[in-house]
Amino acid sequence: MIGVCAIQGDYAKHIEALEHSGVPTASICEVRTPEELAQVDRLILPGGESTTVGLLMHRYGLGQAIQEAAATGMPIWGTCMGMILLARSIESLPDQYSLKLLDISVQRNAFGAQVHSFEDEVTVDGIEHPTLGVFIRAPIVTEVGPAAVVIARYHGKVVGVRQGKILGTSFHPELTSDQQLHQYFMKL
Ligand code: GLN
Repeated sequence: MIGVCAIQGDYAKHIEALEHSGVPTASICEVRTPEELAQVDRLILPGGESTTVGLLMHRYGLGQAIQEAAATGMPIWGTCMGMILLARSIESLPDQYSLKLLDISVQRNAFGAQVHSFEDEVTVDGIEHPTLGVFIRAPIVTEVGPAAVVIARYHGKVVGVRQGKILGTSFHPELTSDQQLHQYFMKL
């Protein structure tokens, strides 16, 4: 079973992308509570608004349940907001809740406002073909600790990292028709 965190954000797009990459609908589950998380073997944290989702995740115990699942080796992938939630720290926002499962610092909205959102080709280590990176008020990784490995850069800025079975991308593969990253995650 694969879970998609469905508190807020573009989780429906991840569900569609998983279906397009060949995952049966019956094996995909929306996750909002620790009980729902207990049903899944891997988890996607979608794009959305990290302040809101972090607060709710923390309040309803989902954050702690995700940290416990990660400790047992569950693969987790965060896209954009999802990567912010996975980070060890968030630049200039020391009080914002995060799961601290990726040894990275991130800067939110690092490419500017909504009007500065863009799409461009990105090369990702472990993926055969370059993919279309959709950057929407996207974060960049400003610091990578020893536990994390950079898997993607855009104009020198780190936009993809992996730490064991935890994956973070600044961009949104779920908003393209390219399923390479979904397939890569499903193999972790
Ligand atoms: N700007 C959002 C945040 O900081 C992330 C945007 C996204 O997920 N596309 O939470």
